[in-house]
Amino acid sequence: DLRIARIASAIRAIPDFPKPGIMFQDITTLLLDPEAFKDSIDLFVERYKDKNISVVAGIEARGFIFGPPIALAIGAKFVPMRKPGKLPGEVISEEYSLEYGTDVMEMHVGAVQEGDRALVVDDLIATGGTLGAAISLLERVGVTVVECACLIELHELKGRENIHAAGAANSLRIS
Ligand code: IMP
Repeated sequence: DLRIARIASAIRAIPDFPKPGIMFQDITTLLLDPEAFKDSIDLFVERYKDKNISVVAGIEARGFIFGPPIALAIGAKFVPMRKPGKLPGEVISEEYSLEYGTDVMEMHVGAVQEGDRALVVDDLIATGGTLGAAISLLERVGVTVVECACLIELHELKGRENIHAAGAANSLRIS
């Protein structure tokens, strides 16, 4: 698909951010190119429009950029998966491992129902720990995670295998 090359070239890599040795994949330049940004949404919408998805779960923060336009286009509700202490209502939480230490992800109680079919959206999969936490949260309340959608996959970290271990389906490789 020609669109994928255009999307990939609109994403920039910034060395040594947020700390030395890390090559940060920055999607903000994709957002400056309306055609490439639209292409990225269209690709996901084409893949998910007939998959009977009832909820798009977006992971803070960049899942909040790509998730809502996908949700609107496929007629699904949007649910934010947030860092701790951000959601005002009652939440359920999931702790997960980072390279150093742990983090927590939260979701509002009542945002999803048993039997919902979810697409989890984020900008990037590295180790898969973040997506794994989102999958666990959703599965704990009876939601089926149909697939995870990311623009960028850091293949060498094999996060896709952790996602399978967490019990979910594929992540989509776009760039
Ligand atoms: P994982 O949990 O190791 O798969 O890391 C994925 C999470 O870290 C996602 O929420 C990403 O947004 C974030 N992340 C890690 N590296 C990068 C990067 O290079 N660019 C943008 N986000 C990143």
